[in-house]
Amino acid sequence: MNTLLLNDNDEDISIACKILNDGGLVAIPTETVYGLGANAFDKNASKNIFAAKGRPADNPLIVHIAHLSQLDEIVVDVNENAKKLMKAFWPGPLTIVMKKSDNIPMEVSAGLDTVAVRMPSHSVARKILDRCKLPIAAPSANTSGKPSPTTAKHVMDDMNGKIDAVLDGGNCVVGLESTVVDVTDEVPRLLRPGGVTYEQLCEVLGDVIKNYEFKDGEIPRSPGVKYKHYAPKAQVIVVKGDFGKYINDNANKYNKVGILCHSDFNAPKNCIVKSMGRNPKEYANTLFAHLRGFDDEGVDIIFAEDIDDKGINLAVSNRLYKAAGYKFAK
Ligand code: AMP
Ligand code: MG
Repeated sequence: MNTLLLNDNDEDISIACKILNDGGLVAIPTETVYGLGANAFDKNASKNIFAAKGRPADNPLIVHIAHLSQLDEIVVDVNENAKKLMKAFWPGPLTIVMKKSDNIPMEVSAGLDTVAVRMPSHSVARKILDRCKLPIAAPSANTSGKPSPTTAKHVMDDMNGKIDAVLDGGNCVVGLESTVVDVTDEVPRLLRPGGVTYEQLCEVLGDVIKNYEFKDGEIPRSPGVKYKHYAPKAQVIVVKGDFGKYINDNANKYNKVGILCHSDFNAPKNCIVKSMGRNPKEYANTLFAHLRGFDDEGVDIIFAEDIDDKGINLAVSNRLYKAAGYKFAK
């Protein structure tokens, strides 16, 4: 398959919509990360998403909409908590898990009786959703297990030849996936930290249960969280405590070392230093691109400076720890 590279002009957006209406796959820019889109009512199109990504069949997809009126066909009930969240955070980086309607194929919900829905704010994503008049099922447009794509080039690196088209809408502003909240229980559950912070959710909802960590043997509420995620080729080690001392003591054991840091840093000569930026927003925005960048540089190991879990850093540290397979050093 020849993967088309489209731009964000009117003509190309129409081509993207035609492909989606015909049951094809198009990677689209959103404010979180690039999504691999297909018609959410078409079970075959949705199945093709799983094939292109190598995604386990039990990991459900997020359905994207442009208008609240589309919910009637997708979910059976929009309860008070869902309404509060939509009012506060849509359009934006928040995904809400609700009871699904029969129109959503089991392939999309991975056999669950719920469906995850998001209204993105990205202008190109909205134009596509608006014009093709379909809800679009779209997980992140990376090969399963790899860091999510925040540029069209990242998508091409993973998906060239496997999907119909990639629409280039520039860099994603948030850079991390959406926050996922399940509102089907009395007390809402945070299933994945993301662009909307835990603190923001609590302001709107009151009580929110953090439900994104789980122990071996437990069945997670969000199937996706049990898989190894966001991992570059080299092992990532998150360093707690004195980062500079750890690098000085350990970098000489390797040929080429990747350093991911947020403080000022002078590293030994065999290190490639990538700064995450000056504040948590920048950390979120640069994390995945840096992890992919270390792949391109062919480093042997990556040492990452630890971060706290306040605000959006909860999502950044969640992705970083998963990329490291929870490997820490002091
Ligand atoms: P991705 O779009 O690749 O970021 O993955 C979608 C995420 O949303 C995964 O972590 C899924 O487990 C989660 N998700 C999607 N649908 C549901 C659902 N019905 N219930 C719980 N989690 C869901
Ligand atoms: Mg993903």
